[in-house]
Amino acid sequence: MAATLIDGRAVARKVRDQVAADVAAFTAETGVTPGLATLLVGDDAASAVYVANKRRACVEAGIADLHRHLPADVSQDEVVAQLQELNADPQVSGILLQLPVPKHLDSNLLIGLISPDKDVDGLTAVSAGRLVQGVPGLRPCTPSGVIELLDHHEVPLEGAEAVVVGRSELVGKPVAQLLLQRHATVTICHSRTRDLNAVARRADVLIAAVGVPRLIGADAVKPGATVIDVGINRTDAGLVGDVDFDAVREVAGLITPVPGGVGPMTIALLLRNTLTAARLQRGV
Ligand code: NDP
Repeated sequence: MAATLIDGRAVARKVRDQVAADVAAFTAETGVTPGLATLLVGDDAASAVYVANKRRACVEAGIADLHRHLPADVSQDEVVAQLQELNADPQVSGILLQLPVPKHLDSNLLIGLISPDKDVDGLTAVSAGRLVQGVPGLRPCTPSGVIELLDHHEVPLEGAEAVVVGRSELVGKPVAQLLLQRHATVTICHSRTRDLNAVARRADVLIAAVGVPRLIGADAVKPGATVIDVGINRTDAGLVGDVDFDAVREVAGLITPVPGGVGPMTIALLLRNTLTAARLQRGV
């Protein structure tokens, strides 16, 4: 029997509607409108589309759109100054530096300047530390979106075998931490893992965040497992995930499609993080 599809668009819609309601209540209570400052440097076409989508979603949720666009040849000092200004601005609840930035800029240094309480991408070292220690803070959006999808489908995590393929700071490591906090038994795989299929086949919950089209085949999946495909790969055949969807859906119990799975969750969780950031700054 083919796996049940996880409809990321529908879950994302639900999260966005809830955030909009929560933003309205927060604004009514505090008089503060949460604001997201998106900072786009240069003219990368894909980045421009991503930022436009985020800005539109903000407006729809009642979050102020505080966008800034800097030229591709902007100096590092100027970007630093802009970030410091945004850190100090009480209208700005969240700051998102759209990546990648042009090569002459030091993205690690720039991200490190973002105030942890405004770090809606959850990428600063302080946010990563808060996540590992399990103290309140802003968690990376895509990993939080993965957990949200699992919770929506009431996938048991406590005591479950969870295997994460990929160990990036952006997805693999934080999703593994979130699963650990939910008391899963977590294994993290990467490019040096011996016999990836054998390890992945242990998983009740398998998360693929690799960036290799269709790496995860049916041989890597335990019958009935939940398979979450974070991968977004542009190929001649269009957008495909890290999971060989057609083969794996015959084995898995639950599976996300690409597109329409994890992708839509990222923006939804960015909106939620912006509200969380506004609350952190108010101490509520
Ligand atoms: P990275 O390139 O930063 O990390 C990829 C990870 O996969 C690395 O840890 C790497 O191992 C591991 N890896 C690479 N090849 C193999 C292999 N053959 N076997 C096992 N592990 C392997 O990617 P990201 O984490 O940033 O992104 C992963 C995917 O998720 C991409 O397709 C990206 O487009 C997508 N993505 C989707 C988002 C969404 O909103 N849905 C958001 C962010 C990313 P090692 O560390 O050893 O090199």
